[in-house]
Amino acid sequence: MLHIGCHLSISKGFEHIGQEAKSIGADTFQFFTRNPQGGKAKDIDAEDAAKYNEFARQNNFAKIVAHAPYTLNPCSDNDKTREFAEMVFADDLKRMEYVPDNYYNFHPGSHVGQGSKTGIKMIVDLLNRILRKEQTTTVLLETMSGKGSEVGYRFEELAEIIDGVELKDKIGVCMDTCHVFAAGYDIVNDLDGVLTAFDKIIGLKRLKAVHLNDSLMPLGSHKDRHAKIGAGEIGAEALKRFVKHSAICSLPIVLETPNDLAGYAAEIKMMRDAVL
Ligand code: FE
Ligand code: FE
Ligand code: ZN
Repeated sequence: MLHIGCHLSISKGFEHIGQEAKSIGADTFQFFTRNPQGGKAKDIDAEDAAKYNEFARQNNFAKIVAHAPYTLNPCSDNDKTREFAEMVFADDLKRMEYVPDNYYNFHPGSHVGQGSKTGIKMIVDLLNRILRKEQTTTVLLETMSGKGSEVGYRFEELAEIIDGVELKDKIGVCMDTCHVFAAGYDIVNDLDGVLTAFDKIIGLKRLKAVHLNDSLMPLGSHKDRHAKIGAGEIGAEALKRFVKHSAICSLPIVLETPNDLAGYAAEIKMMRDAVL
């Protein structure tokens, strides 16, 4: 059985989001740890988190994915922005222990003209300062489209980051289908080739989760515009082949398509039917 869900709002708490996910046929989901533009996080309700943990166990939910705010940039050229990134990251990891053994996904960052080497070093340094042996959360680097000065749109850059991290068992990768396609990886005509390259450069054992999106923009466009499944340049058939692939089919898959709940339910069903 596929483990699939979508991005949902956590504003009503963990138990509510779990029930909402279940109601649309999901057995995983993604949520923002705080306002996607950053800012102060709401306190975690320990009782609500404990209820969710029990709900997830009873309903055989897969691991869930927390998403860091977009403003978190570990490789900014501004000291204050980097300090903010570190503060938010460390605080989020602490909060994630209320829902242990899940994933925390973040955009590696934008080097804003400092160059990817400098960017990668800043990202590695931040990870080495905040990852802890005791944490149960695995931190995921998201594959990016390469817009602006984004770091992490080439598998080599992600491999370099992982290479520099001391606590390697705390780090993995989340592959976003829209982003890799926009970055130039042809998952439509050469899925095996792309996943083989990922395996050689990063290692498939590091691939922990998927963002399943169609892309409004073409292959190699370096533009990040998500589309509904079948309404973009990747297409529904290629995305079905993607989720059915042996390297992908057992991972938690999260839709980040522009949809309401009914739209998400339909896309979840489309993918579940594809693997029957
Ligand atoms: Fe993202
Ligand atoms: Fe994504
Ligand atoms: Zn995106």
